[in-house]
Amino acid sequence: MALFFVKTKKKTEEDCVAGRRKEKGKKNWLKDEFNPSKQKEKALEEVRRCVSLGMKGFEIGSHVGEKSLDHRDFWPLYKVCEDLSVVLFVHPWDMHMWDGRLQKYWMPWLVGMPSETAQAICSVLMGNILVMFPKLRFCFAHGGGSYPIIRGRVSHGWNVRPDLCATDCQTSPKELDGLLWTDSLVHDPKALELLISTVGKDHIVLGTDYPFPLGELEVGKVVEEYEPFSQSDREDLLWKNAIRMLDIDENTLSNKNF
Ligand SMILES: [Zn+2]
Repeated sequence: MALFFVKTKKKTEEDCVAGRRKEKGKKNWLKDEFNPSKQKEKALEEVRRCVSLGMKGFEIGSHVGEKSLDHRDFWPLYKVCEDLSVVLFVHPWDMHMWDGRLQKYWMPWLVGMPSETAQAICSVLMGNILVMFPKLRFCFAHGGGSYPIIRGRVSHGWNVRPDLCATDCQTSPKELDGLLWTDSLVHDPKALELLISTVGKDHIVLGTDYPFPLGELEVGKVVEEYEPFSQSDREDLLWKNAIRMLDIDENTLSNKNF
């Protein structure tokens, strides 16, 4: 689990970095404190501590070992994040290699990551997580990966094979996925259009993936160039939606020139 924050007028950034330096001296710091399934209480303590310093959200992976995001080990984390009104940003990692067939052509990043994200979203939707924690805000990286394109298939599957798909959640994924948030990092206006029809333009925040090569080289380019958008829509996606998602008073921002 990693942390993210928004720079406000308060000096929370320095506080948090100083705190982390101190913590890094501890033995097994990463293993013990950043694996919610093994050290749940420590992870929850860390969440509370960071929120007390001004953190507005946390980044987690798309799974921990063999445990997907619907696993009950994560429910205490969800409860605390819901109670503290902080966001969980889910980024794909540790992608399945499909028996080695993803080895070539950078496919773990190009194919594996979007699939991994879709798996994480399906786990959250069909795992009843958004019903159990209705105020919890999940934001998925890379425009929700391949979920928007398989959305109809997933919901169809839920309808025709409830014995397999509706085992934990009685609400169709299609009725819940508008509660998700995603970033805008889809590299393609057609994909952005599909994403808008999936989660809504009010649930998409600017994604950069900075400084990695799969990030947008010109940050916000797809949003800026998406013709159907009004200027107000662009401002929403470029920063205002993120302010809403993170529950931040924009008057506390140190800079509004984005
Ligand atoms: Zn990324």
